[in-house]
Amino acid sequence: MNDMNTLILSDSDSDLRRAAEILKNGGLCAMPTETVYGLAGNALDSGAAAKIYAAKGRPSDNPLIVHISELSRIHDLVTAFPDTAEKIFKAFSPGPVTVILPRSHKIPDATSGGLDTVGIRLPADKRARKLISLCGFPLAAPSANLSGSPSPTSAEHCIRDLMGRVDCIIDGGKCAVGVESTVLSVDRDGDVTVLRPGFVTYNDLASLLGEEHVRLARGITERVDEGEKVLSPGMKYRHYAPDADIAIIDGSREQFECFVNSRRDEGAFALIFGDENVQLPAVKMGLTSEEQAHLLFDVLRHLDDIGAKRVYARCPRKTGVGLAVYNRLLRAAGFEVIKL
Ligand code: AMP
Ligand code: MG
Repeated sequence: MNDMNTLILSDSDSDLRRAAEILKNGGLCAMPTETVYGLAGNALDSGAAAKIYAAKGRPSDNPLIVHISELSRIHDLVTAFPDTAEKIFKAFSPGPVTVILPRSHKIPDATSGGLDTVGIRLPADKRARKLISLCGFPLAAPSANLSGSPSPTSAEHCIRDLMGRVDCIIDGGKCAVGVESTVLSVDRDGDVTVLRPGFVTYNDLASLLGEEHVRLARGITERVDEGEKVLSPGMKYRHYAPDADIAIIDGSREQFECFVNSRRDEGAFALIFGDENVQLPAVKMGLTSEEQAHLLFDVLRHLDDIGAKRVYARCPRKTGVGLAVYNRLLRAAGFEVIKL
């Protein structure tokens, strides 16, 4: 499946209308959002959902996030909307947060990966919201990369992965946030579990709801075995895997420099924050967690482009937005952490 004619569109109003026509006809469109590019199709149409899985090569038990253009649209899609969920949407939406709720009959099995829940997101990106409202239906949109490769944060990344596999790609420049949304589930008592960390952080949620009502799921910072039951099916898949073999080097700046400067392996690179003093060829991921989130996926693709075989990466912070960066890098590293 690599034989479609893929239109490259701009984010002008007239091109968004063209994209909406394609989506109304059951087609697929890669669209910019503030997190990463999404591979969008009609969330209410099982045929479109099936096409999304096929285009990405995504396992069909890994559910698709459903994107809406206004919060009022949620009521049709879920059978319960607890106060806590409403509070979270009011505080952080439109924005990079996805809340998992019991799905209504409107959401087909194909979209929810067979689960009885659905993840709902109201994106901050105005072009994404405009496209959804032009369609008149919600858009199911996982990240617009081939399953297993780093999430796309520019139209070029989408073009590389999806040319010939989708009907159109909207070029909306680089994504502001750069990592996927924070995914949360809310239980009957209103307690929240963070299934995937993102730009809306544990501390943001704890300040809103109280620390005793927020927890981080297992699997965010450790490996969950294939076959083990997990709250979020995406957790069990190896993600963001570049060709290069990455190891996270967990230690102080001095320890990192000392470790890396004793390495001479062929094709080895250092993945540094910024101004570390290293003798290996180095690629920078940025000094702040926000900058690292913005750059990480592009950097992972770049390392493949320059033929990196082995990569020694500085360990991102494990709090705030840093936890989202660490979680993605850990998966890219196949969970290889060298603790100094
Ligand atoms: P992506 O669409 O590529 O950003 O990945 C979406 C992530 O959200 C995956 O890790 C999914 O497993 C998770 N997710 C989406 N919907 C649900 C749901 N209903 N229950 C649990 N996890 C979900
Ligand atoms: Mg993804």
